[in-house]
Amino acid sequence: MSETLPVFLEPWRFSDLAMQFSGDVPLAEMPRLGEAVLRLEGDAHYALRFQRDARRRIRVSGQVTANAVLTCQRCLGEVAYPLSGEISLAVIEGLAEMEYLPEDVEPLLLEPGERRRGLDLVEDELLLALPQIPRHEDEGCAGDLEPESSPPIGGQGDSRDGENPFARLAELKKGG
Ligand SMILES: [Zn+2]
Repeated sequence: MSETLPVFLEPWRFSDLAMQFSGDVPLAEMPRLGEAVLRLEGDAHYALRFQRDARRRIRVSGQVTANAVLTCQRCLGEVAYPLSGEISLAVIEGLAEMEYLPEDVEPLLLEPGERRRGLDLVEDELLLALPQIPRHEDEGCAGDLEPESSPPIGGQGDSRDGENPFARLAELKKGG
């Protein structure tokens, strides 16, 4: 049995009762995601489970998914991009608890009594699932805005070794 996520998280109660939640969220309820995508095809979907682990820590696990439509950074057309995030969180009440967490578990810092919107959790994970540079696969791209020989974008000090996607693209083109 699972129900819709309440407006505010109550991790202590939810985990003691091993509660599960699932539901759909329209983009209109996630304004930060709304700024990052053109639109969603349908609603976002979440499934979350609260429980205590062997060390009595509050754990939140589950998935968030959505079908986003983004702007291709190469041709500025629309590109469909399925967002999918795996949630594996442990609620901690102080930064000192962080170092005891397993590596695959992200901390969720909550002061005792602090109120956190449930949907913020869903929205945060969807934001994390966004690609850094959305673009079509090569064959599906309508245009090519990549100039063949233009000065580096951003100028000096803005490029980090091995992390410049434009440089990498240029290399791929030369090779192919
Ligand atoms: Zn494109």
